[in-house]
Amino acid sequence: MIKRYRLFLLIFIFFLPILSFTPRLGLGHDLSTNLTSSFNPYFNETKAYELIEDQVQFGPRIPGSEAIENTRRMIENKAVIDGVWEIEYQNFSKEWIEGENVSLVNMIISPTIQNPNQSYFLLLAHYDSRKWADQDPNPALWRNPVMGANDGASGVAVALELGRVLLLKHQISNFKIILFDAEDQGSIGWNWLVGSRYFVNSNLFQKDKITYAILFDMVGGNNALFKREGYSDQYARPLVSEIWNLADKMNYSQFFINKSWSKITDDHLPFLEKGVPAVDIIDDFINNYKAWHTTSDTLSQISKETLKAVGQTIEITLLTVQQNTDSYLPLPSFTFQTSISTWIVILPLTAVVFIKLYHKNS
Ligand SMILES: [Zn+2]
Repeated sequence: MIKRYRLFLLIFIFFLPILSFTPRLGLGHDLSTNLTSSFNPYFNETKAYELIEDQVQFGPRIPGSEAIENTRRMIENKAVIDGVWEIEYQNFSKEWIEGENVSLVNMIISPTIQNPNQSYFLLLAHYDSRKWADQDPNPALWRNPVMGANDGASGVAVALELGRVLLLKHQISNFKIILFDAEDQGSIGWNWLVGSRYFVNSNLFQKDKITYAILFDMVGGNNALFKREGYSDQYARPLVSEIWNLADKMNYSQFFINKSWSKITDDHLPFLEKGVPAVDIIDDFINNYKAWHTTSDTLSQISKETLKAVGQTIEITLLTVQQNTDSYLPLPSFTFQTSISTWIVILPLTAVVFIKLYHKNS
């Protein structure tokens, strides 16, 4: 009887670390339980929709085009309220396949009252649209440009409208909006993510001051489905869990599908590679958004309900995270170290019990 008791004890001690490890991995921090009711969302889907109209009126915003230059001026003049924002333009250039040199510009938009010593989070989007609609069902249109009402303009609109409500309604100023040029020209001459890669390798990238980043890409489509993008879910899981949990509590679970999805090459990736937690909010363009990289990616694809679901969910997430920043950082490496330290205690203890048993028996 005594031997059997010892055996059970041994098994129990040996599996103890697994018990303590499992809940830490995967679930993240659920801090949102009582917090949603204390915040009111102000994100206005009609304003976001109008910001998409403001961009597509110029036509496809191909890098180096007059339309993309007009878009920059529009954002500067209209979307950005005088005196409240300042814009930094990061100019660079890249040769297109035919040898022509293309001028590129990343836009960094910050509240003017920002404290330069304070850390900040990022709202990210790309504002270029794709030069060739190479996924169009009609091969005759493969060299036509993409309007990018959803793939481009919707991300910009959500980021700008969120910026407005954070600053003017919630008095939050520790963030920057970065709009990237040349995200969407991959596999037709350039690589993907030209603008964001240029940014993270420049001196404007202040790694030590950035707490985390949220990227908006194709966030306005009718009946959009946002699943937990693979890279985000692996490297920024607590933030991902917070967003999808809050979406569920706010009755947006028909848009935010709480399951892991493919790893997508998008503008959050250069940030993750540099160690900044970054989440990509992106419609499942493989199975759901059929107008992806086609000539049909126009205003008719856009739904105010989707814009509202994304905007208000992220607004409440940002307010929640703002109150609990310490709980979100550092990210996965910390939970791993916790489990290692558990093993450091448990393994010698198991060895001692083994040795004692061995001596008793011999
Ligand atoms: Zn695209």
